Amino acid sequence: MNVPYVNLAAQHAPLKAELLRAAERVLVAGQFVLGPEVDEFEKRFAGLCRVPHAVGLNSGTDALILALRVLGIGPGDEVITAPNTFVATVSAIALTCAKPVLVDVRDDLNIDPALIEPAITPRTKAIIPVHLTGRPADMEPIMAIARRRDLYVVEDAAQAVLAEYDGRSVGSFGDLGCFSLHPLKTLNACGDAGVVTTADEGWAQRLRVLRNIGLETRDNAVAWAGNSRLDTLQAALVMVKLRHLAEWTEARRANAAFYRTALSDLPAVRVPAESPREKCVYHTFVVQAERRDELRAFLAGKGVGTAIHYPIPIHLQTAGLSLGYGKGAFPVAENQAARILSLPVHQGLRREEAEYVVAQIRAFYGL
Ligand SMILES: *Cc1c(COP(=O)(O)O)cnc(C)c1O
Repeated sequence: MNVPYVNLAAQHAPLKAELLRAAERVLVAGQFVLGPEVDEFEKRFAGLCRVPHAVGLNSGTDALILALRVLGIGPGDEVITAPNTFVATVSAIALTCAKPVLVDVRDDLNIDPALIEPAITPRTKAIIPVHLTGRPADMEPIMAIARRRDLYVVEDAAQAVLAEYDGRSVGSFGDLGCFSLHPLKTLNACGDAGVVTTADEGWAQRLRVLRNIGLETRDNAVAWAGNSRLDTLQAALVMVKLRHLAEWTEARRANAAFYRTALSDLPAVRVPAESPREKCVYHTFVVQAERRDELRAFLAGKGVGTAIHYPIPIHLQTAGLSLGYGKGAFPVAENQAARILSLPVHQGLRREEAEYVVAQIRAFYGL
């Protein structure tokens, strides 16, 4: 059997007619940047996350950069986040010329709230909790610290659309929430796209200015800014997929539940837990496995595609060396980096494929 890690062609095949109709509509209308399709998409996305405003952008990375810019974060400021995130979280901080400050994570792969407070200095302006794998970070203590210490919170919800914590959508806790619609995310454009959510109308307006080269009106720029606009075509295509997102999310959750049960008696493979406070959406299903690299090679030999998100913590990547942390600075994240393995969990995964993946994992450990 061949079980690819992702299968975007299979995701799009049943949507082909609807996607082509949406593309044709945009082609005929002839508006390719922003416009009514983007407005409509923003309304629907805001409704999905139960937040007042959503602003469509060209990527999740620019979502993070512009969120920090809206908050006025820049040179001399510090922003706290986790070392095991996708590099874009930390790039965004560095690109505003603020200093990224990293703190270690817990077993849930998310930032350890107990380590945030000791990392706060008079220069700290914001915390970026990352809802890694589609599992919400522990927002109650994080928001309590932010309120007590007067810090902004920017959620990196790039992997977590529809995830919930205490019944509330991620992206609605912090001052701003950043989402990615990259092709490998669950809600995906056919190219790059991103979104920022916020309850603050002023910030939403500012984001619309900053995404459009600082133009407040057609002829007057009020800030230096780049071009981070959402393509109309992408907005139209994503709206087709929005209708299927709840069903895809449930399919991913069912796949995760299957793996969790089927691997529960295997001490060599620790499956992610899900607490009653959380609704995880499983952008990835990340186990922590003994002899991870051997297991991964074995599975590849059996036709099972896997991935590692992410093999090198930020502070040990070449760009991250300048942050001044060395090996050993974040023992939990570093230990996890050697053990984490993402199993296929996409919504198109068939039950017999998941059963095959489990059987191969058991075979590897001699069970
Ligand atoms: C994908 C991702 C991003 C960046 O999003 P792009 O749309 O690829 O720019 C940022 N943070 C995290 C955690 C991500 O997974």
